[in-house]
Amino acid sequence: MPDREGGIDLPFLPYGKQQIADADIKAVVEALCSGWLTTGPRVPEFEKAFAAHCGAREGVAVNSGTAALHCAMRAIRLAPGDEVIVPAITFVASANAAVYEGATPVFADVESDTLLIDPVSVAIKITPKTRAIVAVDYAGQPADYDALRDLAKDRGIAIIADACHAPGALYKGRRTGTLGDVSCFSFHPVKHLTTCEGGMALTEDAAMAAHMRAFRSHGIASDHRSREAAGAHAYDMVELGYNYRLPDVQCALGMAQLTRLEGWVASRQRIAALYDNALAGMAEATPLKTHGDRTNAHHLYVVKLADHINRDRVFARMREEGIGTNVHYAPVHLHSYYRGRGYGPGLAPVAEAVSKQILTLPMFPAMTETDVNRVVAALHRAAV
Ligand SMILES: *Cc1c(COP(=O)(O)O)cnc(C)c1O
Repeated sequence: MPDREGGIDLPFLPYGKQQIADADIKAVVEALCSGWLTTGPRVPEFEKAFAAHCGAREGVAVNSGTAALHCAMRAIRLAPGDEVIVPAITFVASANAAVYEGATPVFADVESDTLLIDPVSVAIKITPKTRAIVAVDYAGQPADYDALRDLAKDRGIAIIADACHAPGALYKGRRTGTLGDVSCFSFHPVKHLTTCEGGMALTEDAAMAAHMRAFRSHGIASDHRSREAAGAHAYDMVELGYNYRLPDVQCALGMAQLTRLEGWVASRQRIAALYDNALAGMAEATPLKTHGDRTNAHHLYVVKLADHINRDRVFARMREEGIGTNVHYAPVHLHSYYRGRGYGPGLAPVAEAVSKQILTLPMFPAMTETDVNRVVAALHRAAV
């Protein structure tokens, strides 16, 4: 039975939703009419604007967050056989990007109250082959970068920040986008800011940025626009790259959306505070914790259900009430692909246990207090 208010069926409440304004549409139409559809002036413009927003020096725009992670893995020059430590609870792309480069993901466990990569587990998983740690800013909270840096320094280990959940979040006063050797963002519609599909890799290192710019365009260092400007036709492919370019039209959308990003982060924080309040004292569902030295950009609002509650039944009951919840995530190493490569249960016991009890509640900037109360009331009914 869908939720009813005054006898009227309430609309389905999705777990996430993008916002497209008239200004976005105008910017996209302008770009379409400008003559530049793919790599034009809006690409470097968006790169500079997003990097500046995060306080980073260089931005490399690509056509997905996954492509940004792949660029990062190439930029640190992984070799086959190298190991990359990845938290067990994340989107599969965090690990897959290492596999693309022939490296071996090694799954670290997570903290049970934040689901962030646990530095204690990372320390145990480091071997002489470890070349990188992927720090995932799960749900919008930055990982413990200082602890991870301490483990990485003097060992030649790079920190790749998977900040796809966390634009605008702070770690000890420092902005996401500046916390990894390369920091990766996604502009998928469910994320904070969208270019339909898209992503960006940020870095302080100009040489790594140049490498990633070539890698996103077949491994060719010059692009059509720069050759045309120089009156030249010759180009050289120096390594095997991909076509990961983000079109000008989509960068126009990103530029228009960027002006509203800060407000959206604030809205998400306001909604999270409403949830925290409404859930306080509810024994059946415990919100994740945010560490006192960080702010949380709240891409997701995740609760842990008490051990005796059947999570999948709650998911189904909420759906019947017209409320879309989700699960972020099942442990990466338990997917068939990774099981087929020899991974299996037991590698990350905390992640494996907690992933059975987590539920992602609706979270998007346009949500109202009434929406939050509706979700919490439905959760009360579903979790008994
Ligand atoms: C969304 C996401 C990605 C991948 O981004 P796409 O743009 O969908 O390719 C990678 N890692 C995490 C943690 C994500 O949430």
